[in-house]
Amino acid sequence: MTGGVSEMQEWFDIEELEPGLWAISEPHADSVTSYLLGGRERALLVDTGLGIGNIREAVEELTGLPLLVVNTHAHYDHIGGNRWFGGVWAHEAERERIQAGVPHEQLGALTNRDAFLVDPPAGFDGASFCIPGVPVTRTLAEGDVVELGDRTLEVIHAPGHSPGSICLWERQRRILVAGDVVYFGNIFACLPEADFSAYRVSLRRLAGLSAQIRLVLPGHGPTPLGGGDVCQIEEFFSLIADGRAEGRSCRTPWGPAQVYTSERFSVLLKP
Ligand SMILES: [Zn+2]
Repeated sequence: MTGGVSEMQEWFDIEELEPGLWAISEPHADSVTSYLLGGRERALLVDTGLGIGNIREAVEELTGLPLLVVNTHAHYDHIGGNRWFGGVWAHEAERERIQAGVPHEQLGALTNRDAFLVDPPAGFDGASFCIPGVPVTRTLAEGDVVELGDRTLEVIHAPGHSPGSICLWERQRRILVAGDVVYFGNIFACLPEADFSAYRVSLRRLAGLSAQIRLVLPGHGPTPLGGGDVCQIEEFFSLIADGRAEGRSCRTPWGPAQVYTSERFSVLLKP
């Protein structure tokens, strides 16, 4: 099966950010980054990407440790590779959607060949592509701990992007795995399940940690970011909330929105 393995290496763009920490990105217009953290006893895969390449094969080339898999939230671009695992851990508020999966009809962008920046692996069939549901075998709540042996990550419930979005905080190494709560790019606070006020509260909490954060690992865009970048986003959300940022109307797949543009990111809100 070595042919399949090298094909996975071609599909995924894998970067070892530091010993025991890999960013696994995908060459697609809907690019997303998953992360692998190696501990002494277990390795943790945070999010499973689009599900176009076999992320399990890619990860097993990097570590031989038993794998835990966490979904930061249930959006299709973070749960696509769940199919290669028997179950995942996630927040209760995301459980139903992870277990339901996503039907082919809702995955238009993943079946459009023009969106692929390199050819998808040979086994990928856009015409029938869907994301099957998998069981959530452990629900994660605020303050829960994910133990990898010599590495411990605390769950921070950070709703706003979605109701059950979580971040993972590795206090010892000062790493925040941020999911879609923090990233540079288009920040879709206009999604039907998004909540701008809850998002602000979550960002304020994370900004409170920012002086302690060494690396922020975002779900999209450039990686890693730093603690100061969390503050930048938090401050811009405050400007918007106080009416001190100028927005303009735009259209999104979820309907009309207001877009507020900062230097390195934009925030899209329901009008
Ligand atoms: Zn998302």
